[in-house]
Amino acid sequence: MPARNILVINCGSSSIKFALVNEAHSQFPLSGIAERLGSPDAVLHWQRGSGERDSLIIPNGDHRTALSQLLPLVQGAAGGKLHGIGHRVVHGGELFTAATRLDPKVLAAINATAPLAPLHNPANLQGIEAAMKLFANLPHVAVFDTAFHQTMPEHAYRYALPDSLYREHGVRRYGFHGTSHRFVSRRAAEMAGLSVGDSSWLSAHLGNGCSTCAIVNGQSRDTSMGLTPLEGLVMGTRSGDVDPNLHSHLHRTLGWSLEEIDRMLNRDSGLKGLSGLSNDMRSLEKAREQGHAGATLAIEVFCYRLAKSLAAMSCALPQLDGLIFTGGIGENSPLVRSKTVAHLRLFGLSLDNEANARCVRGVGGAIQAYGAPRVLVVPTNEERQIALDTLALLDH
Ligand code: AMP
Repeated sequence: MPARNILVINCGSSSIKFALVNEAHSQFPLSGIAERLGSPDAVLHWQRGSGERDSLIIPNGDHRTALSQLLPLVQGAAGGKLHGIGHRVVHGGELFTAATRLDPKVLAAINATAPLAPLHNPANLQGIEAAMKLFANLPHVAVFDTAFHQTMPEHAYRYALPDSLYREHGVRRYGFHGTSHRFVSRRAAEMAGLSVGDSSWLSAHLGNGCSTCAIVNGQSRDTSMGLTPLEGLVMGTRSGDVDPNLHSHLHRTLGWSLEEIDRMLNRDSGLKGLSGLSNDMRSLEKAREQGHAGATLAIEVFCYRLAKSLAAMSCALPQLDGLIFTGGIGENSPLVRSKTVAHLRLFGLSLDNEANARCVRGVGGAIQAYGAPRVLVVPTNEERQIALDTLALLDH
């Protein structure tokens, strides 16, 4: 059978990220993003392989316009042989424990989950519906960010809140970034020569959004994000954990509304809020070198809180086969990796400075000091994992 092609689509409210994945090649034949959809500045950017970049302005174009412009590009890059479409869906609630072929019933179920992800799921659905109309003859598969974490035990996913909030309203911890944690834990097992079904990992996905995960025998046993992606680690613009009484405190003392508090916690906090400078780790590292106090503090808090979360996740592991760093920061910041590991000396963790410095820009590998527990840098590839999940369903 010739190698198959899957188009992977990730729809936000005003953007569509896409990648054409060929099962036999690590490089995407086509990838890109449509941005600012619905505005006069709507634009489609794409790249063929690692070469030629191009853009097309699509004034006031919506998801459907962008996808219809994309259609001939995808068909061209796939040599007319596109086998299916894999859609990233943020929230699958408790209904979806694995990738699922899309049909009207599944669409209705994703819609019913929208109250749990009011910003993400409706945007995902908008893209899915437009794509299903345009690519009507192809199978469409939904791959959920939450699905991997459905194996968490109840003592890890429940909040200490009145039982009815869980039973009647689904208030529990769900976790996100499941596709990435699953991909990197499999790769880590391969790199270490272990079986994924018989190994235990701590994983830190550190991008604009950040989360940790405890993975035992290929299953998620705990993760730092919760009901929403705000819980847990310090992120680019998100606060991560705060005292739950912060809301009432700010309302009482400053008269802030729920919307204002929500915006502050999601958009103006994290690295950006602490540094007063940027949500981007690259900029913060440069500013720290020049002695910027806010950037220095933001990096210190980020690494300490990350180490604390990893130590907490270790409660879910029978043994530690390795710590995995991934995501834009995890894959590219020797500074963050070394500062984080320095807080975990009680675990015996220690890095080889040269190996740590070498693992950047897509280079993965082991970075622990001789004789210390394994620490791996593993470039994530959510698009490939979504394509593999889509292909696995097409085979049935
Ligand atoms: P992601 O969401 O996975 O694309 O990750 C985005 C984050 O990765 C941003 O905070 C970037 O600043 C960070 N990042 C990317 N490259 C580097 C780098 N060379 N050094 C430090 N952080 C980086």
